[in-house]
Amino acid sequence: MIVILQPDINEKSPDYRQILDYLAHKPNIKTRIHQEIGSIRTLTEIYLIGDTLSLDKAEIESLPGVERVVRISEEYRIVGRHHDDTREVGFDYNGVRFDQGNLHVFAGLCAVDTPEHVEMMLKALRDNGQVCTRMGAYKPRTNPYSFQGHGKDCLPWVFELAGKYGIKVIAMEITHDSQLREIQEALHKTRNPTGVMVQIGTRNIQNFELLKIVGRQRELPVLIKRGFGISLEESLNAAEYLASEGNRHIVFGLRGMKTNMGDPHRNFVDFAHVPVVKRLTRMPVCIDPSHSVGTRDSAPDGILDIAHVTAQGVIAGANMILVDFHPVPTKALVDGPQALLLEELPYFLEDVAIAREAYEKRQALARRSKKG
Ligand code: PEP
Ligand code: MN
Repeated sequence: MIVILQPDINEKSPDYRQILDYLAHKPNIKTRIHQEIGSIRTLTEIYLIGDTLSLDKAEIESLPGVERVVRISEEYRIVGRHHDDTREVGFDYNGVRFDQGNLHVFAGLCAVDTPEHVEMMLKALRDNGQVCTRMGAYKPRTNPYSFQGHGKDCLPWVFELAGKYGIKVIAMEITHDSQLREIQEALHKTRNPTGVMVQIGTRNIQNFELLKIVGRQRELPVLIKRGFGISLEESLNAAEYLASEGNRHIVFGLRGMKTNMGDPHRNFVDFAHVPVVKRLTRMPVCIDPSHSVGTRDSAPDGILDIAHVTAQGVIAGANMILVDFHPVPTKALVDGPQALLLEELPYFLEDVAIAREAYEKRQALARRSKKG
C-alpha cells in the first residue's frame, strides 16, 4: 500500500506527524518514506510493508495531509503499474524528459576509441538535431584479451566534447561501482558539460550488489538492460532493486534474448515486449536494435534488418533507441560489423519518424474506436 501525501507537505507539519503517528500504531506494518524532489514540487510517498490487508484505505485517506492511497500488488511495488495508480510516470534529467509517451534516439559509439571519431559522431548528432548519445568507456567483453574500453582516462575529453556539441545525456555502461564514482568525479571536475545515464548491461542485471549501489545514488538516471537469458519477471525485479534503494529514474531496455532460435540475428529480437513492459510498469522502454540484430544485413526491400526491427519497436511504442554508429566501422574496436554509418544518420532518423508517426496514428485510432 502506498500513502501519497499532498505535494510539498512539510515534514515538521502537524499533519505529517499525525500520519506517521497513526501508521506507527498499526501492528505489523513497516513504513518506508520516499521523497521525489521535482523542479516544481516535492512529492512524498509512504510505502507500507507487512499486513496491509488489515488497514482501512478510506480511513487513511481521510487523514489531513493525505492525497490518495493506492493498494499495490506484490509485484514490482515501486516500478509497477498498479490498479487505480495515477502516480506520475517518467522523469526529467538535464533538461530531457523521459516517459512512456515520448521518444529519444541515443545513437553513438559502442566503444569510445579516438577523440577524432568521438568528435565526428557528436558533430553529426548536433547537425541532425540530437541531444543524446551512447559512448562506452567500460566494455564487458566475452574474451579477456579483447579491448576493454579506455575507462576513466577518456571521460574528461568525452564529456567536454559532448558539451561542445550540445549533448545533454550520454548512455554509458558501468560494470563496477568504482566506475560510477569515476563518472561522477569526471562530471564534477569538468563542471557537468553534459549528463550521463548509467547503463547496467545485460550481463550485470543480476549483480544485486551493483544494483543496490547504483540505486542508492540519485544523481544519475539508469538504463537497465534486460537479462539475455532470464525471464522478463526476473529482469523487472532487477529494476525494482534500483528503485527500492531510492533511484526511480529508470529506463528499461530490451536488447534481444540469447537463443539460437533467433539465428542468424545475434539475439532473438524481443521488441514485442515493448507494450508488455509499459503495461506492467511505469518505466519508459528502450530498444537496442544493434545488439539484437548484430549485423548490417538487409532484406530484398533494401532496408537494413536493424532499421526494420527499430521500426517494429517504435511502432509498438518504444521510448528510447540505443543504436551503434561509427564514422569508420572497420576501425571500430568493438562491434564494428553492426555499426551504422554517419551518412546513414539522417536516413535512420527519418525512418524512425515515419514509424513514430504511424504509432501515434495507431494510438489515436485505438482511442477513437474505444469511444465509438
Ligand atoms: C552495449 O550496449 O554496449 C552492450 C554491451 O549491451 P548489452 O549489455 O545489451 O550486451
Ligand atoms: Mn556493443
